[in-house]
Amino acid sequence: MSRIAFIGLGNMGGPMAANLVKNGHTVRVFDLVPAAVQAAVDAGASASASARETLADAEVVISMLPASRHVEGVYLGDDGILAAIPAGALVIDCSTIAPASARKVSEAAAARGLQMIDAPVSGGTAGAQAGTLTFIVGGEEDALERARPVLQAMGKNIFHVGASGAGQVAKLCNNMALGVIMAVTGEAIALGVAHGLDPKVLSQMMAVSTGRSWATEVCNPWPGVLENAPASRGYSGGFGSDLMLKDMGLAVEAAMSVGASIPLGEVARNLYSMNHQAGRGKLDFSSVVQLITSEK
Ligand code: NAD
Repeated sequence: MSRIAFIGLGNMGGPMAANLVKNGHTVRVFDLVPAAVQAAVDAGASASASARETLADAEVVISMLPASRHVEGVYLGDDGILAAIPAGALVIDCSTIAPASARKVSEAAAARGLQMIDAPVSGGTAGAQAGTLTFIVGGEEDALERARPVLQAMGKNIFHVGASGAGQVAKLCNNMALGVIMAVTGEAIALGVAHGLDPKVLSQMMAVSTGRSWATEVCNPWPGVLENAPASRGYSGGFGSDLMLKDMGLAVEAAMSVGASIPLGEVARNLYSMNHQAGRGKLDFSSVVQLITSEK
């Protein structure tokens, strides 16, 4: 069992930290939001007053933050924690960020003699709660082997996809596909409904046919189709539309950096940008369907 510092206790980090506690690890936590820290304390973690304070005797440091600027800020900023991480500790960043940012922080860690992996996740808040996340890892093989017991307390699939930053590239490929699929699934159901079809029956049919996806089966964008989907609770919780917008932007940047063509990804990035402008940035990303349903 390890002594773990955990920074960032949002929709994903909160339940991930709770699963580490459940699996017998000693977890010290920090988040800028006191209520998030309190929830982790209720789950058995101990609170710290700052990110630095989590580090005291940490063997593993895990971060689960919104975007590149938060990760670079926490590790490399004015009061950055990298300088204070105990010698020999392993650093695991689970946030979804730019591959270049992941490499920048891991190179700075290496300069201090610390091993760091990028380990962004897939599986959503339900996967974080159930401890069934997929980890998509970039970094050295031996660093992953050190991380494995800790990752296994939070997830069930671990893919090593390459060197530092590669985990982020693979995660962006997955999320670009998801962003496009969610938008087109909403469009397809809206088309059926405009023809008088029942969205539930249409979705049930698609979920066992070739239009099948996570968007039809697990996170259906149409209210009332799946009881537990964000769409059926006013699009609350889940994966924020602005986080999907961030990931789409990262995919566009990643494509430009190697001259790849991602025509559908670029269109979908604009849809999530329009969803932000319509005031739905904090709602689940399946609310993108409201671009075509709410203004009628
Ligand atoms: P979130 O916004 O719910 O949580 C982020 C947390 O980080 C917040 O509690 C915030 O207060 C905290 N934070 C920000 N800056 C901080 C700082 N300097 N120090 C300490 N805490 C700080 O986001 P989330 O949904 O938990 O997502 C986290 C990451 O995981 C993102 O990169 C996201 O893209 C990715 N992700 C999310 C999902 C999902 O379904 N929500 C799924 C896969 C991956």
